Formats: sequence, C-alpha cells, structure tokens
Amino acid sequence: MQLPRSVVVGRDALDRVASVALDIGLEGSAGVVTGPTTRRVAGDRVAEVLSEGGFSVEVEVSDSVDEATVEAVSGLDADFLVGVGGGRSIDTAKLGASRTGVPFLSVPTAASHDGVASNRASLRGGGSSKSVSADAPLAVVADTSVIADTPERLMCSGCADIVSNKTAVLDWSLAERLRGDYRSGYASTLSEMTATIMVENASSIRPGLEESVKVVMKGLISSGVAMSIAGSSRPASGAEHMFSHVLDSIAPGAALHGEQCGVGSILTMYLHNGDWETIRDALETLGAPLDAEGLGVDGDVLLDALTTAHSVRPGRYTILGSDGITREAAERVAEDTGVI
Ligand SMILES: [Zn+2]
Repeated sequence: MQLPRSVVVGRDALDRVASVALDIGLEGSAGVVTGPTTRRVAGDRVAEVLSEGGFSVEVEVSDSVDEATVEAVSGLDADFLVGVGGGRSIDTAKLGASRTGVPFLSVPTAASHDGVASNRASLRGGGSSKSVSADAPLAVVADTSVIADTPERLMCSGCADIVSNKTAVLDWSLAERLRGDYRSGYASTLSEMTATIMVENASSIRPGLEESVKVVMKGLISSGVAMSIAGSSRPASGAEHMFSHVLDSIAPGAALHGEQCGVGSILTMYLHNGDWETIRDALETLGAPLDAEGLGVDGDVLLDALTTAHSVRPGRYTILGSDGITREAAERVAEDTGVI
C-alpha cells in the first residue's frame, strides 16, 4: 500500500516544496514536469524554490501525456520528479517516476480530478486514453491561493469526480457479490464517506474561495488514498468512469473528466435503482453539468457512450454487465433522469 508521507494544503504552499522534499529525505537533483501555462502559474516558482533549497533543478515542459513525453521525462537525470500542473503534468511525472523508480511529488494547480494523490495515471495513445497503474506520490503540496485562481469549471469538475464515488462503490459491491471480486471494505468506506461529505457540503462550496479549495482538495486526496488502499482505481471508478472514457474517445475535448463522470453517475445510480436525484441535486448545487447539453454533446452521442461503456474495461464488472444495456434501456434511463 503506497500512501503520501506528507500532505500540505494551504496558502502559499508552493514556497514549502523544498522543505517538504528535505523533510522526507530527498536530496540531489529535481526534475520539474510542468505545462506551458502551469509553468507561469506555478512551475517556475517551484523550480526557483527548489533551487533556493539547495537542489539542482531541470525543468521539462510538456502539454500531453503519451509515450513520447513519459519517455522524455524518464530520461531526465533526476533523483526525484515533481509534477506541477493539472492532470497531464502530474500524470507524466507520476509515470516517469514509476518507470525509473524515483520518488514523485505532486503539486496540483487545479482541483479538477482525483489523480492528484492516486496510484493511477491516464495515458493517451491511439486516439483514446487508458488508466494505468503507477506509484502514488510521496508528497502532495497544494497551494490553495493558486488553485482558487483557476477557472470555476475545473473545481466543479473535481467535485463531480468525488460525487461519482457513490456509484463506483456500488459497482464494486455488485462485482464482489456476482463475481467474487476482491473488495476492500476500508477503501470502499473511505471513498463513499468522501462522496457523502461532498454531497452534504455542496451548498457551501464556492470556487475561488480558499476554504472551499481546502475541502475539495482533501476530498480528492482521500479518494486517491482510497485507491491506494485498494491497490486499484475501483473505489473511485465504476461504470460512470467507463462512460466518461468512451466520451473521451467519441467526443474528445467536449467536457472535463469529472463533468462526464458526474453525469455518468446520475445514469448508473438510476440503473442501481438508487437515489439518483440526490446525485443530480448535488451536482446542480455544485455547478456541474447535469445533461448532454451541459456536456456539449448530442443526445445520440451520449446514448452511444452509455451503450458501449461496458466494453471499455471487460474485466471490470459493473451495473452495465458484460453485454451492456440496450439502446431502448439507455434511452429510458437518460430520459427519466433528464440527461437527454
Ligand atoms: Zn475520476
């Protein structure tokens, strides 16, 4: 079980990156992986702070997470890697560190998804993305002043990603009952509780407020820890995530990961015969999309995603079963929940 040893969430936390690295026993050279935009927001500052802290620093700027960028990062002569940015920089550093066996520090600049503290990464290739196993970060440093400055939509998406744990854990229980799949009660309970806290606090979450950023970051980190306890993404990724992965392929760029998972969670909670209205109401309060229009896709595209989602990960049993659901059933669930 790999868990972060140090987690710092707060104002001006970027200034503490070097002391966090020293505290956990790191020394030598740091490879800072950042994006073209996030470099200006935080990447350069992290490099400067590390340099002032006595580390030698090399900065690698990349805008995608695929084999080529992971190879480039793996080639850095670094004793540890620091991912500074949104999902792509963090996943690139995470995968590069896992491949070369060096520690990895996660410095998220947005609270948009639960990969900031998890042992999973999304790798793009051949027009689609897949979730692959990696090492969890040794430390997470989240600067609430930086994150509060990002567009509202990013944090709404992170909140929706957390809410979607509700259906992920139901799918996991179903797979245990029907298939005898291993299920960790601790991981499942932590993931479910994290989603419940998000649902119950939905009305007090305000993007742009550092106090809200703290609540959301803690939720994202808890989801990541649940995945580390489980040793898989199961506690935070069920059929609603498979639905999101299909949308990534057939409607790339239309919506954000968490936004898609939130809508997916409304649909699959309905299929579980569960309380989908609470999911929808929480997403509405949080300002996340509730339907195909909100995701920027046609109803037909959404139905295509729902009817093919089961085939994304054949080994992962969910409410969609091994054969998926029919077009008629998909239309019914989407219409009854107001998603189309
Ligand atoms: Zn997710």
